[in-house]
Amino acid sequence: VGDVASTDLAGRLLAWFDARHRDLPWRRTTDPYRILVAEVLLQRTRVATGVPYYERFVGRFPTVEALARASDVEVLRAWEGLGFYRRARNLHAAAKAILERHGGAVPSDPADLDRLPGIGPYTAGAVASVAFGRRAPAVDGNAIRVLARVYRIREDVSAPSVQARIRDLAAALVPVDRPGDFNQALMELGATVCGPAAPACPSCPIEDLCVARREGVERTLPRTAKPRAVPTVPVVFAYVEMRRRVLLVRRPDGGLLAGLWSLPGGERPPAADDRAALRDLVRDQTGLRVRVEEAWATVGHAFSHRRWAGSLYRCVPVGAASAGPGARWADRGDLADLPLVPFHRRALATLASRGPASARREP
Ligand code: SF4
Repeated sequence: VGDVASTDLAGRLLAWFDARHRDLPWRRTTDPYRILVAEVLLQRTRVATGVPYYERFVGRFPTVEALARASDVEVLRAWEGLGFYRRARNLHAAAKAILERHGGAVPSDPADLDRLPGIGPYTAGAVASVAFGRRAPAVDGNAIRVLARVYRIREDVSAPSVQARIRDLAAALVPVDRPGDFNQALMELGATVCGPAAPACPSCPIEDLCVARREGVERTLPRTAKPRAVPTVPVVFAYVEMRRRVLLVRRPDGGLLAGLWSLPGGERPPAADDRAALRDLVRDQTGLRVRVEEAWATVGHAFSHRRWAGSLYRCVPVGAASAGPGARWADRGDLADLPLVPFHRRALATLASRGPASARREP
């Protein structure tokens, strides 16, 4: 592979991994299902955040079958707070597909894995190599950074053609012996030594094989196209309570916070008035007409590609209060079991701790 000796690189990475790897719960198991759960969970989540979620998730759904037979609400509730909720729905769909197509056993072939809902080449390669010892590459952002430096790749690594080249490089490097450990070692090196801003090259086991290091350009790589600025979008939400029940709506299956239960409201046009926009949103989503009272809390939430900023208003129903399809009045006792937008759960807890009388006086 290029001018870097691949056997040296694999051998050194494996020796370093044996001595230094982090002890993580999914590394203590050979159960392909648990490895699949961990890989999906870590697609967009940091390791430290992911550990307690992983343990709760596999405790709640210990087998493919348990996950496949769970309800959407149970699965989303277990995922609540992790973000990128499409992953939870895909993992749920993958468990059902594994039960139907593969008798409940996670397939070992990367091509079969790749055909499961939400499983792309990275996850397929990771599960095939780590759980089954198949010689398949698994290239995440950490591995891309390491390989871009080791091979001094100057092109934009977000370009699909460059990513394909890096995957080919990785595929040629994966050894027959211990392919899963090799893949994990490459990613672990990127996560712990070869960091984005300040790679710790003097502690790196492949320092003398690294072309970028040799040429003193490691901090300038990898290159990516400038990320687009994240827009701030105004939002308004309604807290509507009646006889100690709270009005909730289920968010659509696609898009942000997909499938979670939410207070009514959402994004409003930039030029619109908060109160008028909120009345319209509540009517469209629930069929209820409301009077918008005082603002009770501010809302600020950052997604990967946009930021929400706005207010949560107390609202009072005007006229009939029966909620339409996709909306419900939820008893406070039911909230624990419902997958809720996490910052709405926090707001509801804060409002509950103030008590209805004092909350009503809040500006
Ligand atoms: S020598 Fe430095 S830049 Fe090269 S792989 Fe190691 S840590 Fe990364």
